[in-house]
Amino acid sequence: MTVYLVGAGPGDPGLLTQRAIELIRSAEVIVHDRLVPAGALAAAAPGTELIYAGKEGGGPSTEQAAIERLLVEHGRAGRRVVRLKGGDPFVFGRGGEEAEALRATGVPYEVVPGVTAGVAAPAYAGIPVTHRAAASAVAFLTGHEDPAKPDSALDWSALAAFPGTLVIYMGVRRLSAIAERLITAGRAPEEPAAVIERGTAPGQRVVKGSLGRIGQMAADAGLGPPALAVIGPVVALREELAWFEHRPLAGRTVAVTRARAQASGLAARLRELGAEVIEAPAIRIAPIDGPVPDLARYDLICMTSPNAVALLFERMAGAGLDARALAGATVAAIGPGTARALRERGVLADVVPEKFVAEDLVRALQEVPARRVLIPRAAQARDVLPDALRARGLEVDVVPLYDTVAEPLAPETLAALAAADYVTFTSSSTVTLLLGATGGRGIGRARAVSIGPVTSATLREHGIEPAVEASRHDVEGLLEALLAAAQAGPASPSRA
Ligand code: SAH
Repeated sequence: MTVYLVGAGPGDPGLLTQRAIELIRSAEVIVHDRLVPAGALAAAAPGTELIYAGKEGGGPSTEQAAIERLLVEHGRAGRRVVRLKGGDPFVFGRGGEEAEALRATGVPYEVVPGVTAGVAAPAYAGIPVTHRAAASAVAFLTGHEDPAKPDSALDWSALAAFPGTLVIYMGVRRLSAIAERLITAGRAPEEPAAVIERGTAPGQRVVKGSLGRIGQMAADAGLGPPALAVIGPVVALREELAWFEHRPLAGRTVAVTRARAQASGLAARLRELGAEVIEAPAIRIAPIDGPVPDLARYDLICMTSPNAVALLFERMAGAGLDARALAGATVAAIGPGTARALRERGVLADVVPEKFVAEDLVRALQEVPARRVLIPRAAQARDVLPDALRARGLEVDVVPLYDTVAEPLAPETLAALAAADYVTFTSSSTVTLLLGATGGRGIGRARAVSIGPVTSATLREHGIEPAVEASRHDVEGLLEALLAAAQAGPASPSRA
């Protein structure tokens, strides 16, 4: 079976290639380094054997022969093997040696290039490695070697004279010695230089100075691996072109407590805005089995969550029904997320209130003529809507489609959450179940961000005053409120 030598990119999971994700999903064995993006392995199917090949960034690897043997063995055993490496497998990744070992033993292999740190980390620091006016060539070199060694594989005089950008991998610890060597060989000490630590990751740090001082500056700032250095006039462009640290939530950590199945949209939006996201799904949706309600009986159907829409349509599909089964009724959605879930299934909601809590839906339904109402929803929901409709004399059937149950959270996740800047709560059940999971320790120094008044009331019942409450009670409204608060307040001292 083929062994795939796959680059996983520099750290930002968004820089994994499509091909890398496909192969991670379908792998039977993944042999990975330490420097693969957080979450890259999460795409692996359950049951995939994950083997950590323990190569530390910058450290010499004595295990290379063992890794090669491992790849050959698993390949020969007919298993689908992915050898996953940070960045690009053929750029200081020893992918060449692994391909040679596979070739020598007749095991077929394919190479999947990745986004290499030497291009991506500068890009995320606002440094184009080439530029029409500033550099027409770029050299990638390893700073792994002691530049004082007489038999250095690098020709330092040639590098000093190189007419373009120098990008140095694995060299932070030796940066002062490398810079000195380049300067002795004729490179100008005042040439712009930068060191980028954890490039493309939310915690990326950049130090910029001159070649003569950069080693000391990086040491003073405590920069350590993984980091790389960039030397050349292009570094000066960072002043105008820096973008990563200017995103509105850069440097902020935000925990997302909603169910894993629903968290991805909110988490992705937060990451786009620059936040570091801690996924702490405190709840899980547990579907309840049951028959499809007799939909033809109702002239009004009220959907109060995207989950309810999904599960109602699942029950319908199980009975051979599609969107046409709702044709005879007025369909109301509590908010835009629910309306979207309906639209994806071919139903345009007839009623969506201006604000998105049950009280507003009641108001929006005031003028809607109806006799019999169906409310498919969570088992643990407030009775505001059915009570109000019954008070109007309507016949109301509530059908519970799912329970929200506690999802166990690892102690590290809870610790990370308590150290976050913000924790987002998108429902009362996330409040109750998350605080249950903390065993009374609460959310630490983090500030609570609430989607609306009902969730805020539940927070207050638990002794937490929400720092932010959304005035539009959906994910976009929550993001708006969070952005306003983050812009008003200073970044937390630990990250400023
Ligand atoms: N194959 C990888 C490089 C592996 S060598 C690639 O193509 O990117 C490991 C070195 O890469 C580290 O010592 C560091 O210099 C650099 N590196 C990897 N990831 C990095 C990151 N996110 N930010 C800065 N440098 C990184």
